[in-house]
Amino acid sequence: MLPYNDIEAVKAAFEANEGEIAAIITEAAAGNMGAVAPDPGFNAALREACHTGGALLIMDEVMTGFRVSKAGWYGLEHVPGDLYTFGKVMSGGLPAAAFGGRADVMGKLAPSGPVYQAGTLSGNPVAVAVGLTQLRLADDEVYRKLDRNARLLGELFDDALTAEGVAHQVQYAGNLVSVFFSEEPVRDYAGAQAAQTWRFPPFFHALLDRGVYPPPSAFEAWFVNAAMDDAAFEVIEQALPHAAAAAAAAKEDGQ
Ligand SMILES: *Cc1c(COP(=O)(O)O)cnc(C)c1O
Repeated sequence: MLPYNDIEAVKAAFEANEGEIAAIITEAAAGNMGAVAPDPGFNAALREACHTGGALLIMDEVMTGFRVSKAGWYGLEHVPGDLYTFGKVMSGGLPAAAFGGRADVMGKLAPSGPVYQAGTLSGNPVAVAVGLTQLRLADDEVYRKLDRNARLLGELFDDALTAEGVAHQVQYAGNLVSVFFSEEPVRDYAGAQAAQTWRFPPFFHALLDRGVYPPPSAFEAWFVNAAMDDAAFEVIEQALPHAAAAAAAAKEDGQ
């Protein structure tokens, strides 16, 4: 396990474990500690370090795949991984996941190669039909709305928290949004942990009490959808000043 956005740590790991590292797996843009985008050039440097070290780069696009663009995070940054993982979004809310990648690597799987891979629900026709339908319906207009809604939400966070004088960072990874109660931009997990996460529970509950259902953890990104309309944003806009006030009044020991 290596710190995010730290290419020197990656190079040091390859040096210390020469010839022993088969692959590096990373979120193409981090969503599992809140939205933390890769620094410019980080993914490209990671790819180069992997290939120099004889390892595969596995891009986890379970969150970003088909969400931040039709081609996921790859569609925004164009740094190819050797393998990709997908889930969540790709099946339109039904349970399904997928992986894919370079033809020579995928060729090692049965039936063309020796690696057996199968599952009871693999290729489940219902999940696949739902996923395909959703992906076909997700046109450019849907992605424009997602991007717009993410920015709108971030601006509302910013306005409400600034008005209450709460130190915060609104961060984006494509149309993933996060608000960190931090003085500094968050670039890695240590930074996410160093934020004033104790401000999150009162912030969360003040929103929930007013009909806004946020992700239930300070370490989870916020996802928007394309159906959010003016009426939905009105509800959020009304609720946020109360949530910001609750965050401002929060005490570190939770009392
Ligand atoms: C949810 C998630 C996973 C796990 O997916 P499962 O289908 O639950 O195994 C992996 N990576 C990321 C980035 C996720 O968000």
